[in-house]
Amino acid sequence: MSVHELMFEIKTEDEMMQFGSALAKVCEPGCVVFLEGELGAGKTTLVRGVLRALGHSGAVKSPTYTLVEQYDFDKKRIYHFDLYRLGSPEELEYMGGRDYFQANTISFIEWPMNAEGYLPEADLTIVIEYQGMDQRFVQINSSTTLGESMLSALKKDNGLVSASQAE
Ligand code: ADP
Ligand code: MG
Repeated sequence: MSVHELMFEIKTEDEMMQFGSALAKVCEPGCVVFLEGELGAGKTTLVRGVLRALGHSGAVKSPTYTLVEQYDFDKKRIYHFDLYRLGSPEELEYMGGRDYFQANTISFIEWPMNAEGYLPEADLTIVIEYQGMDQRFVQINSSTTLGESMLSALKKDNGLVSASQAE
């Protein structure tokens, strides 16, 4: 059974962090995750949840000005991009572009549209929609075989994912 889409509601910031730890468990080496949603939706908070679950105890700054932050763990390296301030897609090339996307790295990318044409295909696209102070609606779509298996694992593992689910 392959899963292409999951949708669920998140009621608190803490639940977003829990979703991050569920996501951390299913992220395969080499995967690329696009994060979409307006400013303040919770994209960075989600990445913070992923990094905390992997054992990162320091700060997780939004890479608004640095554009990318790197986090190294025993067996994996995570890149967290925030391309909100990327002037043009070509600028990603000057930053080292495709060198980031290796078989052993995992990438989370906020504002991927700002580098359209210069990024690899997303395995997962996560859209976070603001629904009020603390409430968010999350939609996850997979567009690769790797993404599908990650999404299937997430569906099995994740107690949060209770609302509507499409297959
Ligand atoms: P983005 O990276 O999408 O611009 P951030 O994660 O930086 O958003 O900010 C989200 C803000 O919303 C934070 O101030 C956080 O405390 C707040 N927040 C409130 N409820 C939630 C929630 N359910 N999930 C994520 N963030 C939440
Ligand atoms: Mg952010």
